[in-house]
Amino acid sequence: MKRLLILGAGTGGTIMAQHLRKELDKGKWNITVVDERTDHYYQPGFLFLPFDQYKPEDIVKPITDFIPKGVDFVNSRIENILPEEHKVILADGNALEYDILIVATGSEISPEEIEGMKGKEWGESVFTFYTFEGAKALRDKLRNWKGGRLVVHITEMPIKCPVAPLEFVFLADSFFKEKNMREKVDITYVTPLSGAFTKPKATAALEYLLKEKNIRIEPDFAIESVDNEAKTIIDYGGKIIPFDLLVTVPTNKGSDVIEKSGMGDELNFIPTDKGTLQSKKYPDVFVIGDATNVPTSKAGSVVHFEAEILAENILSYIKGQKMTEEFDGHANCFIETGGGKALLIDFNYDHEPVTGTFPIAGLGPLRLLKESRFNHLGKLAFKWVYWNMLLKGRPIPFVTARMNVAGKDYN
Ligand SMILES: Cc1cc2nc3c(=O)[nH]c(=O)nc-3n(C[C@H](O)[C@H](O)[C@H](O)COP(=O)(O)OP(=O)(O)OC[C@H]3O[C@@H](n4cnc5c(N)ncnc54)[C@H](O)[C@@H]3O)c2cc1C
Repeated sequence: MKRLLILGAGTGGTIMAQHLRKELDKGKWNITVVDERTDHYYQPGFLFLPFDQYKPEDIVKPITDFIPKGVDFVNSRIENILPEEHKVILADGNALEYDILIVATGSEISPEEIEGMKGKEWGESVFTFYTFEGAKALRDKLRNWKGGRLVVHITEMPIKCPVAPLEFVFLADSFFKEKNMREKVDITYVTPLSGAFTKPKATAALEYLLKEKNIRIEPDFAIESVDNEAKTIIDYGGKIIPFDLLVTVPTNKGSDVIEKSGMGDELNFIPTDKGTLQSKKYPDVFVIGDATNVPTSKAGSVVHFEAEILAENILSYIKGQKMTEEFDGHANCFIETGGGKALLIDFNYDHEPVTGTFPIAGLGPLRLLKESRFNHLGKLAFKWVYWNMLLKGRPIPFVTARMNVAGKDYN
């Protein structure tokens, strides 16, 4: 019996188990998925939890609800990967051997990277919504917060869902307006980038919205430390920004196990072929989602598109054939802009987000890079799509793994 081992039962690990259990002969291939958690989080919901728009039970379900029949689930921490020996070591010291390994261990926050970030104000006036516990704690804080200086901050790139902190400031603007206390809150968006986003056309649209909502942007801020006494963040150039409430996105890093295994870069992301999604160093290791270092967004939509390509490539690899499927970096993200509206962006390695229609060229019904109520409904509907289609490996009608250039205005 051959062994396919999948590390991580988040978005990528689950979808790969779904795709490959359908394709691989049950008599010839055993599939095992390992994860230290028993809960699967719908991470896009972490954005809505602080504003009481989602309840915890909307965004957490048992991992085993999504592991397909015929796939073994091992609930354990992964202690190490020994790629030269084709083995993975679990917390109890047992080893799992593999013929093919898929690494889908995602990325996690590391507030310890910045001096003072996890100091005495952590959980008091310094929060993050990038974890389930963090989003819940921030919800409790916002329920009773009386206002002041709200600073929303990104430590360094790359981060998961790079638009999420922008969505947070837009939703905060709406939230405080609805509570009739917007004039009591001064909102500043602090970023290490030189503008609101990484791509020029989307940056222009998003900066326009920031201005319209009276949200100040502080670009090029390379944080050095958080001063818990003075309640300020300080950058390497000496700039100081005071806060009453700091909502930060700490450094995002690949899992510790990637560091231990020696397979990662300085942020524990695995050097991965951006087309085939095969490890650059180990031919029998494939990488999907946030764990890779491929130059596109770390987003669930990306994982979904990568999974279709990767499943085909693994089947070719098993047959000893050349892997012909190439991932193009396709990312598709809704951006909540508050007031029941959202933008939608669609881009890949070669094309930045522009205006146009999605998913059907010329027809839509969704409009790219333009605020609309329909886009907001699309973002809300995505939760249902995630639990009922994406994690079950079902195709989403009209949405293709490779980006469609038709219907987009590149001029
Ligand atoms: C606030 C926020 C908002 C977001 N919004 C969006 C959005 O609107 N749209 C979008 O497309 N994406 C969004 N994302 C990003 C999206 O959720 C991730 O990109 C996606 O889930 C990545 O999937 P993955 O499989 O790579 O990792 P994950 O889904 O994070 O799974 C990794 C799994 O590996 C396990 N694991 C890691 N290390 C170990 C170990 N040593 N031992 C055992 N198990 C281990 C973890 O427990 C976890 O279950 C958002 C993310 C956040 C944080």
